[in-house]
Amino acid sequence: MSTLQFRIVSAVGLAAAGVLLLSAGPASAWTHLDPPAVWSPDDFPLPYWVADDGTSPNTVERCEASNDLEGCCEESVPTGYCRQAAEEGFTAWKAAKCAEFDVEYQGVCPNIDQSSDNKMYITFNDPGNVMEVGVLAHMVPASAGTAKIIDGREYKQFLKNDIVFNKDVEFTTHEDAVNGCPNAPGATNMRGVMTHEIGHSLGMGHSCEDPDKGGAPCTDPTLLDATMFWTEGACQTGATEINQDDIEGFTTLYGPYASFACSHQDTNGISVGVVPFELKCVIVSEYLSEIVEAEWNFGDGGTATSISAAHTYTEPGNYTIQLSVDGQREACGEEGWSNNFRRVGYVRACGVPQAAFAAGHLDGLQYQMLNDSDVSVYGCISNIQWTVYEGEGTGGKVIVDQLQAWEPIIDFPEAGRYTVVMNLGGIGGTGAAMVVVDAKNRRGEGRGCDVGSTGAAGGLALALGLLAIRRRCS
Ligand SMILES: [Zn+2]
Repeated sequence: MSTLQFRIVSAVGLAAAGVLLLSAGPASAWTHLDPPAVWSPDDFPLPYWVADDGTSPNTVERCEASNDLEGCCEESVPTGYCRQAAEEGFTAWKAAKCAEFDVEYQGVCPNIDQSSDNKMYITFNDPGNVMEVGVLAHMVPASAGTAKIIDGREYKQFLKNDIVFNKDVEFTTHEDAVNGCPNAPGATNMRGVMTHEIGHSLGMGHSCEDPDKGGAPCTDPTLLDATMFWTEGACQTGATEINQDDIEGFTTLYGPYASFACSHQDTNGISVGVVPFELKCVIVSEYLSEIVEAEWNFGDGGTATSISAAHTYTEPGNYTIQLSVDGQREACGEEGWSNNFRRVGYVRACGVPQAAFAAGHLDGLQYQMLNDSDVSVYGCISNIQWTVYEGEGTGGKVIVDQLQAWEPIIDFPEAGRYTVVMNLGGIGGTGAAMVVVDAKNRRGEGRGCDVGSTGAAGGLALALGLLAIRRRCS
């Protein structure tokens, strides 16, 4: 009686491994919120309220005594300044000339922690008492549905964003900060913090993140100088005006924008073909009439400069396509606008699967199949089958049929000669490899040939090109 031991590869793992490869990092220095979200053009002008009733004095006591209605603006700045800083904060983002957004002040709101009615409130002194010491302010977002897809990422649509300032921070006016903070030494520029928080409330992330929150060392001066840098020092004035990094990130959210679509697209949104094949791509943009220049990079060295482009892939591979466009619009000034869009791993060019394997002895009559097939192109192999014949060649009795695993262990029924055939199937066709095994019943080292160093999932990853591991018996 013979027994066979299999390590079965599951289809669930295939899909899960695929997701890993298709995720990609941001293409630019700036970042958007994570998870990303954006206002819809229909939301503009965006209504907002500020807990600043414009009368003196601003104190926590007066605010609480009035049921959060009066004197609730930060007590260390003059009456009316909270509202002014909010207005100036929104205006600062207008420096992104191509970005289209608008806001409208609605009046005084109660100084509550966060709204439940999907409106945008700017409040002070941490009314919910939830903020850590040292935090200047924070934003409480809510979003739902899908507003747009940017660079392959889904951006939800904002419903509201409340901005809340902390209570243990001494704030001062921008004018005081410009003069070196004579009125409030060591205080923080409220307008700078406001502009930063408004950036968040419109969808911006940090140019560089707090190292305590996993941020990498920030050395790029443009990122350090950005309004969306993660922190603001005492009596600083720079954050009140957005810089080039802020502008690029913001324009991507609200400015003219171009993406592309290509032929051969499958249900996962990638283009799959068998080499050689011609891919045809078009620019997708609401601003097509403004576009004066386009540059395509097809990832294999191929380029094009036309609005609609075609490219023939001849080598198997996973390719990223990048499109750069330049557009003209009066509001954007003489230089116009430009936009970069790329889809990472968008093209999967497959050839006939190149199959290869070896058989390594484990113990007794157990042999480990060591798969050495070419898996350099992700996703081109969709099926694998093993067949074992008695004797040399494929004319003998079949003792194992249609075994599906990346690297099965085969326990031969008795000593002798066997032929093992592996078939690899994929969009490019079927490739096969054959190994003749002279099975001898002898003791192995117990560990076999690195057996156990990767489980079924590891084998899967290998099949899908995630890892370029090669294993061999010594
Ligand atoms: Zn921030």
